[in-house]
Amino acid sequence: MTAGRVVQLCQRRTASCGACCGLYNTHQHGRERVQEELRRRTRALARAEKSVAGFREAAARLAEGAPEPLFPLVRVCPLLGYLDAAETRLGCLAHPLVTGGPDLREAGVYDVVTCEAFLCPSHAFLGEEEADIAEAATGDAILYGLVVTDVPFLRAVLGAVAAEAGARVERRHLDHAPFREALRDLLALKEELEPGSEGLYGAFKPGRDGGDVPRTIDYQALDRRRSPWDQILLCVGADPRSGNDLDLLEAEVRRRLEACAAAWPLASF
Ligand code: SF4
Ligand code: SF4
Repeated sequence: MTAGRVVQLCQRRTASCGACCGLYNTHQHGRERVQEELRRRTRALARAEKSVAGFREAAARLAEGAPEPLFPLVRVCPLLGYLDAAETRLGCLAHPLVTGGPDLREAGVYDVVTCEAFLCPSHAFLGEEEADIAEAATGDAILYGLVVTDVPFLRAVLGAVAAEAGARVERRHLDHAPFREALRDLLALKEELEPGSEGLYGAFKPGRDGGDVPRTIDYQALDRRRSPWDQILLCVGADPRSGNDLDLLEAEVRRRLEACAAAWPLASF
């Protein structure tokens, strides 16, 4: 944990995350399918009685129709949903600030103390400017969580853009809409992986003992040179064994990086 103020990642002004509540733990991680599931929960919980028993009952019904998890041992909480009618923000629908009084998180997949205390590792690694860049570049309830929980991915992307552009990416550069959109497009690779791809979870995969095991791409076995964007490719699970096409993803990384460089803001930014 860093000394000093811990950066606020879960709920930011224009972005919100629900990754640790199991949002992306599904074979069908495409944006529409994820949104559909969030909608289903939000509707059901709006009708549920505002009590632990009422939410437990609703959660049990929701679990019955829920999509298959990608990692069965990682919990998926049905109490995560949309906080606003425009579906711009997601969060815990059992939190007292959302229910308007009772704390109903006991009805979820963890207990209240765990939900209240948990901070994912990104809090220990990301600085305020990196969080700001992730928020400004994604600015929504789906892509932001994928990016902010994968520090190596975010840093690899920003590093690669800096190498192409010849200067470090700063928050102010994202005020230039064409560059912001190009950077979003590059980060959105995370949303476009093959169904069931573990690449959604970054450059690590779950080990047998529950710890993280770093992924590697076996270029030798593939009879090809190491990609200059190896770290980005690792973070999107480009190893062919993960179900993704390495050559296709590498070409996409190149194309989207070039688009970032072409949209790089002029000196006034
Ligand atoms: S995964 Fe991290 S940033 Fe996202 S909601 Fe959980 S603690 Fe917050
Ligand atoms: S009850 Fe806990 S795990 Fe479930 S949505 Fe709320 S914060 Fe997330």
